[in-house]
Amino acid sequence: MPENYICLTCGVQHAASNGPPDRCKICDDERQYIGWAGQQWTTVEGMKAAGHSNRIQEVRNEPGLWSIDTRPRFGIGQRALLVQTPAGNVLWDCITHIDDATIERVRELGGIAGISVSHPHFYGTMIEWSHAFGGAPVYIPRADAEWVVRPDPVVQYYEGAQEPLPGVTVVQVGGHFEGSAVLHWEQGAQGRGALLTGDSIAVAADREWVTFMRSYPNYIPLPRSALDGIVRALEPYDFDRIHGGWWELTVDRDAKEAVRRSAERYVRWIRDPD
Ligand SMILES: [Zn+2]
Ligand SMILES: [Zn+2]
Repeated sequence: MPENYICLTCGVQHAASNGPPDRCKICDDERQYIGWAGQQWTTVEGMKAAGHSNRIQEVRNEPGLWSIDTRPRFGIGQRALLVQTPAGNVLWDCITHIDDATIERVRELGGIAGISVSHPHFYGTMIEWSHAFGGAPVYIPRADAEWVVRPDPVVQYYEGAQEPLPGVTVVQVGGHFEGSAVLHWEQGAQGRGALLTGDSIAVAADREWVTFMRSYPNYIPLPRSALDGIVRALEPYDFDRIHGGWWELTVDRDAKEAVRRSAERYVRWIRDPD
């Protein structure tokens, strides 16, 4: 029986094949790496058998935003975020583990009307998640189509920006990937606007600044043109807060200015002083 294999290092599920694929396209790229024990694979059932489960918690001081991550930690270790709106919920970023308890809890929270992901490292099992919630559309920038390693009719490609539900817009900012995106949530931060950024904009440890990288694990920086592109793509949007890809990595206030001044600082350091 063909099986949808999942790469153990990045957690991304691939198109069905008889036997595990030779390579993971996503890990076999200079932005990622092959696991130190060599390329290994699992499946959705294999993850359940390994004793994984998901933790679903409302984000502190942000009513309507729920964080979903997997214990024990799996793959890259990111979280997904569920944004609740009066018109339905959007799942932003994805994880690999999905089970009945997760589906039941997310249904109690209002289900999923649309899915969008910041970039290929966080695709996880996005097609499984869509199928579990009535084939909810999965919005991916067309620029990253080549990275969708499990193609499916639920995937809808967009260019520039897309509004899955009123008040929720996904915006392609580029940088980390050509199709790297962020989610703008108008009602976030008590109505001041919030941005969910994954790896497209990374919240720094001091939580006052952010950074931008072509590769985080391999420390590859971005050129000035990419930073300018990110700042420019966000100009039309008001936001006061940024929720990054990991727990507690939040720029709590004045986040739009934090993006601008962080890009400026970055350019100062990559520019040859002479
Ligand atoms: Zn991989
Ligand atoms: Zn990444």
